[in-house]
Amino acid sequence: MRRVRVDLGERGYDILIGAGSITMLPRLIRSMGFTGPIVVITDKVVMSKTARITDPVFKRLANDIFRIIVPSTERSKSLKVFQKTIHRISRKTKTHRPLIIALGGGVVGDLAGFVAATYRRGVPLIQIPTTLLAQVDSAIGGKVGIDIPEAKNLVGAFYQPRAVLIDTDFLQTLPRRQIRNGLAEIIKYAIIKSRNFFVFLENNMKDILSLKKGPLEKVIYECVSIKAGTVEKDELDNKDIRIALNFGHTLGHAIEAAAGYSKLYNHGESIAVGMILAGEIALRLDMLKEKDLDRIKKLIRKAALPVRVRRISVKDIMNSHGYDKKFITGSNRFVLPRKIGSVEVIEDIPGLLIRTVLREYVD
Ligand code: NAD
Repeated sequence: MRRVRVDLGERGYDILIGAGSITMLPRLIRSMGFTGPIVVITDKVVMSKTARITDPVFKRLANDIFRIIVPSTERSKSLKVFQKTIHRISRKTKTHRPLIIALGGGVVGDLAGFVAATYRRGVPLIQIPTTLLAQVDSAIGGKVGIDIPEAKNLVGAFYQPRAVLIDTDFLQTLPRRQIRNGLAEIIKYAIIKSRNFFVFLENNMKDILSLKKGPLEKVIYECVSIKAGTVEKDELDNKDIRIALNFGHTLGHAIEAAAGYSKLYNHGESIAVGMILAGEIALRLDMLKEKDLDRIKKLIRKAALPVRVRRISVKDIMNSHGYDKKFITGSNRFVLPRKIGSVEVIEDIPGLLIRTVLREYVD
């Protein structure tokens, strides 16, 4: 079992990583001195796929425990599901302050986290992420929230969990495409922060893709450590440090949005191409060496992620790009690689350069 501490003073917490880490839950709750009711928020698919692992653990809890099961789609991050969820919690737990457990991917984590942040002005939260993306990214760092029709993640809060239990056994039932979704974020961490980690990914991609225990745990540990370190320095995302985590996301989000958040491109697939496009822009600005860009492309290909965009037009991507939240009025900001392991925020990239690069990568 590996442990990473997110050092945020009184809001600090531990992240436990390893196969079987969920068995630590009863002891963790006892150590918090928590005796009130527990609400597990999860989704339909997670509930059925993980019952074999979670049921015996939940049975060991002395607390009153009940589940709220939301649909297993992004639509669960809505005001409607949020409202339904808090009504159910208030009816079930009456005057008690519950502990919320988020058991699921990023959708459940973001929704349950926002419920915990707002219900009774904040109740304790434990994140138990079950997708690779949630394990390396969304369950850590305290960004929680829901979508409104105008945009994704527009309503939210910074709310740190009391603990995160990352159990790699959950990944055994995760569809391959969801594994690759998380892999894109993993590659992102290496490019922004660690050349050594990048080399590890180059040498071990096959084992990681087949979920071999040792390499998988190391990869999650490295990503969690990078994210924890970044969050410690810029918890509220207002110091231009946390923004590095958005590498590949500016054009990545534009691709995802231009695809209408459809099955055509999921988040990881979009940011995989987004990272290459950012690398290509950096190359043309003489920031990045061609050799490094080639290695980035090769690794993304090794992870079976796309390196080009198909069936979406440059025009649609440019239109969506205009709405990206990393835009400052009248200008734009990109996280661009200087070399593998280091990125920089660059403002005012000419629209012509963005369009030219896009034209080369859109079929
Ligand atoms: P998801 O939560 O939608 O999960 C993907 C699918 O996998 C769902 O159908 C789910 O039911 C299923 N699933 C989950 N665990 C499973 C398991 N162990 N076995 C089988 N199936 C399983 O998707 P995601 O990629 O985890 O999260 C995406 C969300 O995360 C988006 O809403 C995004 O905005 C958010 N996000 C948040 C942050 C943050 O910092 N808060 C960061 C990145 C992404």
